[in-house]
Amino acid sequence: MTELKPKKEIPKFKLIFLGDQGTGKSCILNRFVEDKFDENYQATIGLDFQSKNVKIDNQDIHLLLYDTAGQEKFRSLIPMYTRDANIILFVYDITRKESFNHISDWYNDLTNVKIEDVILVLIGNKIDLNDKREVNKEEGEKYASEKNMIFKEVSAKTGNNFPELFYQKIFEQIANKFKPGLQGTVNDIQEMKIKIDEDKNDKNKKKKCCK
Ligand code: GDP
Ligand code: MG
Repeated sequence: MTELKPKKEIPKFKLIFLGDQGTGKSCILNRFVEDKFDENYQATIGLDFQSKNVKIDNQDIHLLLYDTAGQEKFRSLIPMYTRDANIILFVYDITRKESFNHISDWYNDLTNVKIEDVILVLIGNKIDLNDKREVNKEEGEKYASEKNMIFKEVSAKTGNNFPELFYQKIFEQIANKFKPGLQGTVNDIQEMKIKIDEDKNDKNKKKKCCK
């Protein structure tokens, strides 16, 4: 009963990676979190998660990054994780057209997500394999602009375009889209968990009473 006021907590954002198996989701996550690439990275089983602290607009932010497995048997679990995600990243492999064609299936699976409340990102991975390319950059760009997604082609292997994608495009959108949330979440533990579905009816209100 002595410590009534919770300690200062930093805002949390939840990111989730979706896309076919083998497109490089786990490698992208590893490249972003640890800035490394491991050829022998194990296939993801079910769901995995890592976290990383970053600074956005001079504010400390805690990112929770959820990695999914493409196997059919785990797919039914994904809505549990997309439900309260803030940023959803769709990954395809530029050398596998099929993985790009499947992006619309992954997108259509998001039936429990209020699309306008989340940041959507389309990533064409493996641009180091440009000679094996099956998906033009323009196709990716077109799909992304139709669905209002951030778009970038990257290579998890070389790290190409990672700063541009994460530190510029994604972080900038986080700062813009969740600005009231960022300001409102700093000192209050109730505000710390930015849950879009809790907040959707009352976007402009800075404080939300949960008592
Ligand atoms: P996931 O199933 O989507 O998580 O895919 P993984 O991250 O496990 O990667 C699948 C395979 O693609 C692995 O053999 C990786 O080494 C390879 N891979 C991932 N990213 C790249 C990349 O940017 N370039 C190349 N050449 N290979 C990659
Ligand atoms: Mg994986």
